[in-house]
Amino acid sequence: MHKAKWWRKDKGEKILCELCPRNCLIDIDNTGYCKVRKNINGTLYSLVYGYPCAINIDPIEKKPLFHFLPGSQVFSIGTIGCNLGCDFCQNHDISKECKFPKSLEYISPQDLVEMAIQHESKSIAFTYNEPTIYSEYILDVCKQAKKVGLKTIMVTNGYINKDVIKELYVNIDAANIDLKGFSQDFYENYCSGNLNNVLENIIEIKKQNTFIELTNLIIPGLNDSEETINNLVDWIISYLGKDIPLHLSAFYPAYKMLDKTRTPKKTLNKARKIAINKGLNFVFEGNVMTNEYDNTYCPNCNKLLIERQIYTVVYNCLKTPVCSCGQTINIIL
Ligand code: SF4
Repeated sequence: MHKAKWWRKDKGEKILCELCPRNCLIDIDNTGYCKVRKNINGTLYSLVYGYPCAINIDPIEKKPLFHFLPGSQVFSIGTIGCNLGCDFCQNHDISKECKFPKSLEYISPQDLVEMAIQHESKSIAFTYNEPTIYSEYILDVCKQAKKVGLKTIMVTNGYINKDVIKELYVNIDAANIDLKGFSQDFYENYCSGNLNNVLENIIEIKKQNTFIELTNLIIPGLNDSEETINNLVDWIISYLGKDIPLHLSAFYPAYKMLDKTRTPKKTLNKARKIAINKGLNFVFEGNVMTNEYDNTYCPNCNKLLIERQIYTVVYNCLKTPVCSCGQTINIIL
């Protein structure tokens, strides 16, 4: 077990965890909401430091990141636990069941980076469950990764305290931040979270020079209204600009939300059209088996720059982040 950062003693032996906006007050021998940070004799420990339960080599497009090292492989890890409570979680087997697989072996930050190099990955992604809850391990992995030139990636819900952002994200090269919906009611009722926290954090993460892409999962009847999509796109353009890649992702029934149907293709298409008409330059559709809206086109001359087929780059004419017409493209190659 690894001693945690970002906490202080509060009322006797209780501990206040200051890692995320939940600010759990944790009794002795108890864990916080995320189930992986435990008060042992008045000290907070991370139960998952060095114990990823999921390790895969993925195409980076699967994160999804379409404009960061396109066509590369990313060494991806996740642990158990989460600091949100989304009824529709697609990874609830690790985020919510929270049973430590007995066979897990400790992997030091150095060994993890060594494994990524052996698999010829250009980057390491902290993904699958919410990585914020094991930020101590991420920081130490990042230190080792920087030594050998590996990039680092967060796939995150953005639910983290501001002070931690400054410390953590200066070490993170890219992030896909999952906006679960675009109303406070939605966050409260279906995620047990707070939209404003996440929005403020996205702006703060961008200030750390982390390359950002956004995902928005669209659930029929819950967060798919024209008004909601309009508000989402207006906010993105106002605070992040027109060049942030946006992934509109289809919902499928999962976890506690088995009564809803899959997101119809026409709903995704409509949302994408709104985003494009308002001026967003790179809008993709995800979680659907079609290649129709997977490609990157130049926002100036409409030239095809990158063609993708189900998470695979099949054509990329960019050698630098500039189109042949002179337009700069928001992409890290
Ligand atoms: S990281 Fe976990 S323990 Fe800490 S405040 Fe958030 S949910 Fe609670």
